Amino acid sequence: MSHTVYLALGTNLGDRMVNLAHALVLLTPHATLRNWSRVYETPPWGYLEQPAFFNMVVEAETDLEPVGLLDHLKLLEEKIGRGKSVRYGPRLIDLDILFYDEIEMRTSRLEIPHPRIAERAFVLIPLAELAPTRKLVPGGQTIADLLARIDQSGISPVTVRENDSPAGLAVMFQEEPEALDRFIGLPPSHQREYLQHILEAKKPATRRKRFDWTVNQLSIKKD
Ligand code: ADP
Ligand code: MG
Repeated sequence: MSHTVYLALGTNLGDRMVNLAHALVLLTPHATLRNWSRVYETPPWGYLEQPAFFNMVVEAETDLEPVGLLDHLKLLEEKIGRGKSVRYGPRLIDLDILFYDEIEMRTSRLEIPHPRIAERAFVLIPLAELAPTRKLVPGGQTIADLLARIDQSGISPVTVRENDSPAGLAVMFQEEPEALDRFIGLPPSHQREYLQHILEAKKPATRRKRFDWTVNQLSIKKD
């Protein structure tokens, strides 16, 4: 059975746009992207001596149960290269489950809704693009209400939803399941080379061309 989930992505090391695209592409076999926010740049928070973050939120459908989804996200974090680090410190990718259907759960490993949504502008801003009227808890404040009460300074969009989102690339892969399958079999460093090559192109048409070239390369490799 399919479940609707909202996921938050954050990254502040290396090529941040590639990190987001990498996570979204690797997510697609287990979760189908339905909607996504713009990407925002966020000044460092928590531990301040570190580079700025890119943050975004996506809506997806998945067959995985909550704990299975968390396991999968942790696996992706490792693949993409998140090492052990300071809590709230620099990271290649952080993947959090914000909402999972209407579920409420509080275990030591997994809390849904994510416990820190209300206090994080870098989550509320992109989430409000997708689900402004959603309530954090039944009868509670909406995402838009919470956003109106929080300091949003320093957070600014770096993508336009339509044509330069890393999610656009994930959707292209989503529509080419065979290529995606082959892509997933590659070592992460090769995956990144392909993604970097595609994302370097700023024009949508050039991106599409490079994506088609990638699909072609992937099919040649296996045959
Ligand atoms: P944070 O995301 O708060 O910056 P981490 O990514 O290091 O910190 O998360 C630490 C732990 O939080 C994870 O190992 C996971 O077990 C737990 N956790 C609890 N609830 C959630 C959730 N909704 N989404 C993701 N991780 C969660
Ligand atoms: Mg996390």
